[in-house]
Amino acid sequence: MATIAVVVLATATGALAPDPLRWWLWGGLAAAYLALVGLGVTFSSWGLFGPAICLGRPGGMRVSLTFDDGPDPASTPRLLEVLEQHQVKAAFFLIGRHAERHRALVQAIADKGHLVGNHTYRHAWWTNFLWGDRLDREIQRAQRVFQDILGTAPRFFRSPMGLTNPQLFGALKRIGLRFVGWDLRGLDQRAGAAAPVIRRLAHRCRDGSIILLHDGGANPQVLVDIVHTIIPALRNQGFTFVRLDESLSLPEKEN
Ligand SMILES: [Zn+2]
Repeated sequence: MATIAVVVLATATGALAPDPLRWWLWGGLAAAYLALVGLGVTFSSWGLFGPAICLGRPGGMRVSLTFDDGPDPASTPRLLEVLEQHQVKAAFFLIGRHAERHRALVQAIADKGHLVGNHTYRHAWWTNFLWGDRLDREIQRAQRVFQDILGTAPRFFRSPMGLTNPQLFGALKRIGLRFVGWDLRGLDQRAGAAAPVIRRLAHRCRDGSIILLHDGGANPQVLVDIVHTIIPALRNQGFTFVRLDESLSLPEKEN
């Protein structure tokens, strides 16, 4: 609605202006709008378009692990094993169409006590350009997959690459989802070895950190090595691992 109001206002203002000025005005407004969208798209933690949760409740040295892009038969079973070994509950932001193909893995993730979040149905590069009903349908389609497999729909959403657009938060509100980003990326997808990721996480972790790693599309052995090493390393620094929903300050009724 706000977007339509801005477009109508800008068009009307431009229409009142004399000729060359009108085009400069329209061009300037369009450039300003695109710049704003670009910033909101890139920095979801700024909350330009809505409430993005990117850090847990500070004060308890709590830290949460989150894994995007699963489930993946090459890495999810091994990841579940290493998390169980260290007694850590994590959050998995799963891609709907992958979940459809690997239903047993989704069930296994939930059975082990981890949180399942919505990471869109298709996870395409253009997902962030979806608008209106198309955006709602993309998110809802994934919700239905998880509801069908688990009997409950996720409460948390993370967009591909954490990008946001001006309509995303309205859609999430209608569907009953909260946007969760992160404050610490492992940059694990580009890593050929575990050591640099472990160093980065151990060095940058802070009270309330939400850590982003990837369960899918990357080297499973590197992932297992990262998780196996970073959990005791951060515990040695005084951090406690909690599941994402335990680290957020949510109203009582939502817990
Ligand atoms: Zn992703």
